[in-house]
Amino acid sequence: MSKKNKQIAAIKGTKDILPQEARKWQRVEAAAKGIFELYGYREIRTPVFEATVLFEKGTGQTTDIVTKEMYTFIDKGGRSLTLRPEYTPSIVRSIIEHNLHLRPQPLRFYFIGPMFRFDKPQKGRYRQFHQMDIEVFGEKDPAVDAEIVEMADFLLQRLKVKDRQILVNSVGCRKCRLGYQKDLRASAEKVRERLCEDCQRKIETNPLRIFDCKVDTCREISLGFPVITDYLCPECREHFDKFCSYLDGYGIEYWIEPRLVRGLDYYTKTTFEIVSSKLGAQDAVLGGGRYDDMMKDFGGPDMSAIGFAVGMERLLSLVPYEEEREIFVYFVWLGDEAKRAGMKLARLLRREGIECLIEYRDRSLRNQMSRADKLGAPRVLIIGEEEVKKGTFQIKRMDTGEQKEYRQEEILDILKESAQK
Ligand code: AMP
Repeated sequence: MSKKNKQIAAIKGTKDILPQEARKWQRVEAAAKGIFELYGYREIRTPVFEATVLFEKGTGQTTDIVTKEMYTFIDKGGRSLTLRPEYTPSIVRSIIEHNLHLRPQPLRFYFIGPMFRFDKPQKGRYRQFHQMDIEVFGEKDPAVDAEIVEMADFLLQRLKVKDRQILVNSVGCRKCRLGYQKDLRASAEKVRERLCEDCQRKIETNPLRIFDCKVDTCREISLGFPVITDYLCPECREHFDKFCSYLDGYGIEYWIEPRLVRGLDYYTKTTFEIVSSKLGAQDAVLGGGRYDDMMKDFGGPDMSAIGFAVGMERLLSLVPYEEEREIFVYFVWLGDEAKRAGMKLARLLRREGIECLIEYRDRSLRNQMSRADKLGAPRVLIIGEEEVKKGTFQIKRMDTGEQKEYRQEEILDILKESAQK
């Protein structure tokens, strides 16, 4: 192909979800929505782009997301906008803007949609990816931390995701982090030259972010750094111990991972991830935590919050494929009158919830039957000149080859019945 005619391809780091795969997405989304609703969550939808400052302030100035990964642009009105890289700041903005905090608390919301991060594309990491997100506002009790971990685990179990591991930690509050940051900075300072350039910068800006580094040497070195769990204030310690004891009460197995700080600045107290070794290097299928300060930092009410986000692409790669049985009826006809009778019948049947596909091109009966076969039609409805005269229809079951004639009044029941088999 010449350069001029080069086909326009999907942008690097994005991908099309083709119909067969989209079915799996629908199945997973339906299962998730069903479970979220069982726990009292309701859907909320916010715009795909927001004012850039929302993420700078919410996600945090020192995070990799804000410093390197945002899709930020100036619109025709001269405003700086950003395609959302994560969901939490948008929900917080929406709650404050619509005074949702005046409703009975806790508020429980869920959301499903695309996110955008200019990260290096690789397996399990895309530039447009999708998340299912849940958030609870106005509940301080660590029982809710345990409840959302239990809900996440239930979702993965329901979707038959095997080989999953729950990692939990506490990153403390601003009070406990003061002492910790001082010691962490001092430890990092001692090995400054061995850290990557980015981490050297983080020593000054936010040493906690060194734990997010993807460079192997930095990861190895950080294993020797002090851990936040040794610095928790009595309130954070009690919260973490209770959270773990509630998980024990559910009989949920988990691992305490003291270096799990997650890549966002706003976390306080609980953080957690569910990982799977089947995912390779990008092993977190979902992650979340508590962020008790964000609401008031945005000038809203003093309202604690906790949530998690599931990466859809990673989740889907772990969900086993389940063959979906086609149940549509393929209409085959001979002659214009039969075509018209078929169109009328299809109209009626679709209103009764029967999926109908009707051939519009004038082809031979053999040709139409072979198309039905290629499409995998389980049932074919045949209308010939004879049938038009009598007002009847033939139904052929493709698996057994059995073919019978029915009156119009019988068709609906017969099709409904055979769809069950
Ligand atoms: P985060 O919003 O960074 O806490 O991530 C939550 C979840 O979103 C992760 O556990 C991943 O499953 C998924 N995720 C994050 N970034 C990406 C990405 N670039 N591509 C695909 N999935 C991602």
